[in-house]
Amino acid sequence: MITKRWSVDNSVDKEDSYSQFSQAADLLKNNEVVAFPTETVYGLGGNAKNDEAVRKIFEAKGRPSDNPLIIHIAEKGQLDAFVAEIPQNALVLMERFWPGPLTLIFNLKDGVLSHYATAGLSTVAVRMPDHPVALELLKKTGLPIAAPSANRSGKPSPTTADHVWEDLNGRIAGLVDGGPTGVGVESTVVDCTGEVPVILRPGGITREQLTEVVGEVIVDPALADESQAPKSPGMKYRHYAPDAPLYLVEGTKEDIQHFVDDKKREGLSVGVLTTLENKEFYCADYVYACGQREKLETVASSLYEALRFFNTTDADIIFGEMFPGEGVGHAIMNRLMKAAGHRVISR
Ligand code: AMP
Ligand code: MG
Repeated sequence: MITKRWSVDNSVDKEDSYSQFSQAADLLKNNEVVAFPTETVYGLGGNAKNDEAVRKIFEAKGRPSDNPLIIHIAEKGQLDAFVAEIPQNALVLMERFWPGPLTLIFNLKDGVLSHYATAGLSTVAVRMPDHPVALELLKKTGLPIAAPSANRSGKPSPTTADHVWEDLNGRIAGLVDGGPTGVGVESTVVDCTGEVPVILRPGGITREQLTEVVGEVIVDPALADESQAPKSPGMKYRHYAPDAPLYLVEGTKEDIQHFVDDKKREGLSVGVLTTLENKEFYCADYVYACGQREKLETVASSLYEALRFFNTTDADIIFGEMFPGEGVGHAIMNRLMKAAGHRVISR
């Protein structure tokens, strides 16, 4: 399959620029799959009402079919067509955080969406992305669009159009290039079907931000305990992993350098995943600074780029610094732990 690629040219008038990708909307309406930018990561969209379109998403990604997709909408009014009810907590959260990196779980109204999109569950995950290109594309189709991250399953999520191209060129009908995404980690997934909202996946909106609006919010206990089955099916999969094994180091820069030196003596090529503050300290084959530790949002926005960077090197092993688990650090550590297959070492 030839993958068509459009660039959104921000230097021209919005109308002219957006007309460039009306073909992308037509492809979506014809049940083809198209990747597009959102404020979190690039998504791979398909008509959520159509089995064939949803099947194409799973196939292009190589995604396990028991992992449901997030449905993207451009207007709150679209919800009524396919959710059974909108609980009070969800209303308040939508009002405050939509459009934005927050996905809410609702009870599903039967018979509207493809049951492949929801993996046969009785609930559905929905969000409204805060990105002008995504919103315009969604509006142009008028459809609920199922859109997981636009990477091959298991790889780091794509934060640039080139990442999508690397993974999916030839496997999808189109790619809208809207430049690098901002937040860099996926949306926070919150289950609003019970009394107290539950965070199923940490992401761009922090627990602290949610608590400010709805009071008590709990975190799915399975996120911290590998022996429990997570309520969000996708959280059980190994994810985001670079090709070389990543080890997170609980300790100081000196401890990390010690591990690096050990592996160098064994003749291995060694990478270090650090931040700008510590970059100059390390002596290794590849040292990649992923944002600034003092500004965790910058770490979130360049995390996947960093993981993909090591795949362009011959590094045999990677050692990574750890981050505090509060605020957006919760999502960063969740993704890093998955990328590292939960390997944490200390001296
Ligand atoms: P991705 O599309 O790759 O960003 O992943 C979407 C995440 O949302 C996965 O972790 C899914 O398991 C989760 N998800 C989607 N629908 C549901 C649902 N109905 N209940 C719980 N988690 C869901
Ligand atoms: Mg994903």
